[in-house]
Amino acid sequence: MPGNAVAAVAVGSKKTELREFAIPDIPPDAGLLRVEATGICGSDWPMYLNERPGPRILGHEMIGTVAHLGDIARERWGVAEGDVVALEEYLPCGHCEYCRTGEYRSCLETDTQLAGAIRYGSTPIARAPSLWGGYSQYLYMHPRTVLHRVPPGVPKHVAAMALPIGNGFQWAHLDGGAGPGKTVVVQGPGQQGLGCVVGAKAAGAEIVILSGLARDEKRFEVAKALGADACVAVDREDLTEAVRRITGGRMADLVIEASGAGADAVNTLIGLVRKRGILEIAARKGAVDAFDLDQVIAKQVTLKGLRGHSYESVELALRTMASGKFPLDRMSTHVLGLAEVDEGLRMVGGEIRNGSIHITVAPWD
Ligand SMILES: [Zn+2]
Ligand SMILES: [Zn+2]
Repeated sequence: MPGNAVAAVAVGSKKTELREFAIPDIPPDAGLLRVEATGICGSDWPMYLNERPGPRILGHEMIGTVAHLGDIARERWGVAEGDVVALEEYLPCGHCEYCRTGEYRSCLETDTQLAGAIRYGSTPIARAPSLWGGYSQYLYMHPRTVLHRVPPGVPKHVAAMALPIGNGFQWAHLDGGAGPGKTVVVQGPGQQGLGCVVGAKAAGAEIVILSGLARDEKRFEVAKALGADACVAVDREDLTEAVRRITGGRMADLVIEASGAGADAVNTLIGLVRKRGILEIAARKGAVDAFDLDQVIAKQVTLKGLRGHSYESVELALRTMASGKFPLDRMSTHVLGLAEVDEGLRMVGGEIRNGSIHITVAPWD
């Protein structure tokens, strides 16, 4: 067992500092992960801005090597020391209605919008044993950990995208029904939006249209390499007209909102959905002033809120990585060390604009 772990602790708004923690005693039903890489997620940014709930180690999209396992954990998790695994951020209770029906991402015990719930990457260091985040050399593997084996040959900076690509499979394919013959519009060319392109194309969608801004040209190039059929810069071209043209007037079976665009964008997106189609909203929007419900009725639109991923979707992401069918490494633009966590977070938050898409923190680099 190692003695200490260095971690980047978010100590206040937009500020992290490197601190050393003693490796805690590991109970028989828990483990210890040597973190190899942690992806920076868009949801890290609002947490990085927020002083509450006190100092914490951010980062919740970890892959790593199992460094130590208690005897009960070894039996329950079916892994051994030395195995490379990807962790989900959730620490679900395992016995509530959501958990028992496989919907553990909705478990109240791991919903950090609720007091007392725990989750990787957002639980304060004040809660023992402190090592709850991925921007750290080691992570405490709580008894409620959900893990996946990383297939051999998948590089760590690609495996660290298991959750955003998993979201793509969840939102486009499992929740949105993307498949053969379907047309999908994805708004927002960030890591989640590109994940949706991959999820839709891997599921066999016929046409995938990605929207963004003119400044997203590099991201559009990556999207096309990943299989996007068309990319539309909405500050250059009217999105509704473009979708009408590309689909021959049929419009989209599925529209996924995964951008930072404001609430007003929602009505435009309803206009892109064909009759009986689906509109999914992933990125937070706040309240919409004038929500066009008449259009929702006229077209019998299904509206879905999206949050996170299922076990199945993360497995699909990892198997897609192993297949080598998609050049996913093109999404990875930066691999940073622990001392550069602030810089990476500012890239994800849009304060540093340098063409970044997916950024990985590798704590041993
Ligand atoms: Zn995330
Ligand atoms: Zn539960």
